[in-house]
Amino acid sequence: MKKYKYSECFLSIQGEGKYTGVPSVFLRFWGCNFTCEGFKCDTEYSWHKDYNHMLKRASAGELMCEIEKLCPAFTETYHLVITGGEPMLSQSAFVEILYLLEKNGNLPSYVTIETNGTQMPRLAAAESISDVRELLWSVSPKLSISGENWINAIQPDVVAAYAEISKCGQLKYVVDGSAKCWDEVEIATQAFRDAGVEFPVWIMPVGATTEQLSQNQEQICIDTVTRGYNFSPRAHAWIFGDKPGT
Ligand code: SF4
Repeated sequence: MKKYKYSECFLSIQGEGKYTGVPSVFLRFWGCNFTCEGFKCDTEYSWHKDYNHMLKRASAGELMCEIEKLCPAFTETYHLVITGGEPMLSQSAFVEILYLLEKNGNLPSYVTIETNGTQMPRLAAAESISDVRELLWSVSPKLSISGENWINAIQPDVVAAYAEISKCGQLKYVVDGSAKCWDEVEIATQAFRDAGVEFPVWIMPVGATTEQLSQNQEQICIDTVTRGYNFSPRAHAWIFGDKPGT
């Protein structure tokens, strides 16, 4: 039986973007195609070799059971967040898990996929998620403050392929408030618009800790609304201190 790599599965609130505050089951897959050395990745423990002790392996059936245990009341608002690392590297895994949940009558009403927007979706992904009420592509394209190469990080064709599967999505940028960063938000967003992606823009302040966030988030929030974008705090970091399992 195929075993998939993951780091954790837990119940918390969604801390960022459109569903902030909504109770959610998180399945965090292992591995990422980036390292984002320009800022500290807040989920390094899901891909870095220093955290190999957190690497787990489980079959799709075992992961389905973990999700079901965490969500005893499969309500109208049941929200599953598939995250990482980069979960689109594990798309065959979550396709299988969603299929099993559906067979059990426990398909989530809402599914969010937290992705960096660089991995092309395969056809199977489109078929398995067609029955959820809303599939939200939560795409976080990495600007140059991440340290990643623009050509690798900003991939409009990939995000356009996501939009073909579901029109629900968000472009969630991490910014440091510099003029360069704001320029890049505009350039990247225009590239996505040119590819036919209409997902709304959300801005999040850079910073993995509450200390870092408190230094820059007020001004970034003001600049965000002035520019007509949505602002997202990192609610989980404020409440729980940005640690695993939250
Ligand atoms: S893409 Fe996301 S998970 Fe991967 S290194 Fe960058 S911030 Fe971390």
